[in-house]
Amino acid sequence: MPYDYDPQNIFARILRGEIPNKTVIETAHTLAFHDIAPQAPVHVLVIPKGAYVCFDDFAARASAEEIVDFHRVAAQICEIADGAENSPRGYRVISNAGVAGVQEVPHYHLHVLGGRALGRMLAQG
Ligand code: 5GP
Repeated sequence: MPYDYDPQNIFARILRGEIPNKTVIETAHTLAFHDIAPQAPVHVLVIPKGAYVCFDDFAARASAEEIVDFHRVAAQICEIADGAENSPRGYRVISNAGVAGVQEVPHYHLHVLGGRALGRMLAQG
């Protein structure tokens, strides 16, 4: 399904430098930065610099170079989450999409969470 990309979404504005962010890693195609409202001791967002709305949009349309770059950055963030102090090993990667997935910002992103035991994946109900 084709998606309309809203260039005024908050992550597009972060990418244009209109809104500050706490960057963890930046590459040619990817930005990783701390979530403004962290849900765990490590909560980093990984976003492509290109205009993609959600996971399937990125997976279907991005170039091989963008896809590799994005996942290499994500892997480095996962390593940080996995090695967080005072926490069991492991981490969680989440990507919300659309209304059913309760996606707040319509620019594709991964949430990488770690630094504590994270509980079950989905709340009941
Ligand atoms: P979503 O519900 O779209 O998967 O998650 C969007 C995430 O973006 C939320 O966890 C929210 O806290 C984060 N967020 C929203 N606005 C900003 C912002 O201006 N800066 C940062 N760093 N994170 C934001």
